[in-house]
Amino acid sequence: MRRLFVAGNWKMNTTLSSAKSLAAEVAVEVQKTQPRVDVAVCPPAPYLLAVKEALGDSKVSLGAQNAYFASPGAYTGELAIEMLQDVGCQWVILGHSERRQHFGETDDLINKKIVAAASRELGVIFCVGESLADRQANKTEQVLETQLAGGFAGVDVGLLGQIVIAYEPVWAIGTGVTASPDQAQAAHLFIRGWLAKRYNPPAAEEMRILYGGSVKADNAAELMGLADVDGALVGGASLKGELFLPIIRAAATLAETK
Ligand code: PEP
Repeated sequence: MRRLFVAGNWKMNTTLSSAKSLAAEVAVEVQKTQPRVDVAVCPPAPYLLAVKEALGDSKVSLGAQNAYFASPGAYTGELAIEMLQDVGCQWVILGHSERRQHFGETDDLINKKIVAAASRELGVIFCVGESLADRQANKTEQVLETQLAGGFAGVDVGLLGQIVIAYEPVWAIGTGVTASPDQAQAAHLFIRGWLAKRYNPPAAEEMRILYGGSVKADNAAELMGLADVDGALVGGASLKGELFLPIIRAAATLAETK
């Protein structure tokens, strides 16, 4: 049985003060809904420690939005995995389409980061997803296959427990356009099938695959209720309690039946 997981990606948003109050709101909600679902928030790096403090003893976990693969050293501007763990991170988002698009992150670089984070026991939320042009050219599965093969290169089956996949069609991120349930389920099933071939069917069955792309309170239950969707990576709607908390509640309700 896969446990539903809702993670909020705050991207380059919030202030110190709004990050702390949003974290505190999420913590209060999760005290009510846990232990049925896993919840994480991923604030901007300068606010990680303050958010960790605001989360207090709640079961909300802390995630970073990026990490570098090398050990601490002369890499100006980068975030070492050890540093993220030092401030209480349990997760890091890797392979996000915005990092691929704006910062030129390649499958090879993402792979190095995945291997480094997972092998040091920092949980990875590994994002994959096709562009609109890819989908229109019927290349969705081809693109997913390339990103998955790249990301999982050299990743031993023993590390899979540290990794969650997020299927995020690029055309659905921040656009208000969501993948239809059929599109989402088909992509998730494809990813699970790929994992079964690359590793083995039981490992694929255990792996959580989140959906991301304009998830909101009014579509969250339908998307997270799909057979191969195990939660959501939420961007815009994770920035306000009144938008994010209903998504957590929807997951908690689903967890009773799914
Ligand atoms: C994201 O960037 O991970 C994301 C899913 O964003 P949004 O929910 O705003 O589409």
